[in-house]
Amino acid sequence: MKDAVDWNTLLYETWISLSKFSEKSVPEIKRVELKFYPYRNGSSSLLWKKGILSGKIHESFLAADRTTAESLAKLLISRILGRAENSDWKESVQNYLNRQSYKPHRTKIYSPLGKHYDLERVFSRIRCLYFERDDLEGVRIEWSPRMGKRRLGTYDRETKTVRISPVLDHPGVPEFVIDHIVHHEILHHLYPVLRWKNRNVIHGPEFKKKEREFERFREANRWLKTVYPKMAALSLIPKS
Ligand SMILES: [Zn+2]
Repeated sequence: MKDAVDWNTLLYETWISLSKFSEKSVPEIKRVELKFYPYRNGSSSLLWKKGILSGKIHESFLAADRTTAESLAKLLISRILGRAENSDWKESVQNYLNRQSYKPHRTKIYSPLGKHYDLERVFSRIRCLYFERDDLEGVRIEWSPRMGKRRLGTYDRETKTVRISPVLDHPGVPEFVIDHIVHHEILHHLYPVLRWKNRNVIHGPEFKKKEREFERFREANRWLKTVYPKMAALSLIPKS
């Protein structure tokens, strides 16, 4: 039996430790009030008001391990403090939710055929070019039903499904960018999360090495960092 996470203490301590790195002065918290809900979309939120940090946390996190709990706490608190969110926290939380029997759109299957890109074709191409010797048996790909602007791709280990955000199904998005994201998500199938020094390593050294084998890796990343934010800001990409 593992120790249950003391959420009130965890949030309080995370608040204190993240405030140290904040440039602005951070208000103090007098107490933490939490409620656990079984929302269908698995979302959690926090609010600071007059010294009280109140939170609605998805009930599946009651059984979370320490690493997942810490990732969620950091994620929610950095949103309040206006600090940058670490993508590893997000992945840790998302991976935990994916492992739960609770699952949004659990049985639904979505199409890989978009208006501009056919993900099935992208998948086959990437598979031929990079993963000919790897076991991708049963791995499928689809356009996600959700318009994620920041999370452009996910991999669900339980259903072996790669999902790509439909914001990328756009003529302004170069094919090599889609290729890169599909390549990255396939690597998640091949390289499961590692446990190292008591924390989850989602993109381990081997993963990162393999990721760089994608021919236009740097170019794709540059596009995502420079062009994509402008497209999103100009609303060339539909709002989420
Ligand atoms: Zn990843």
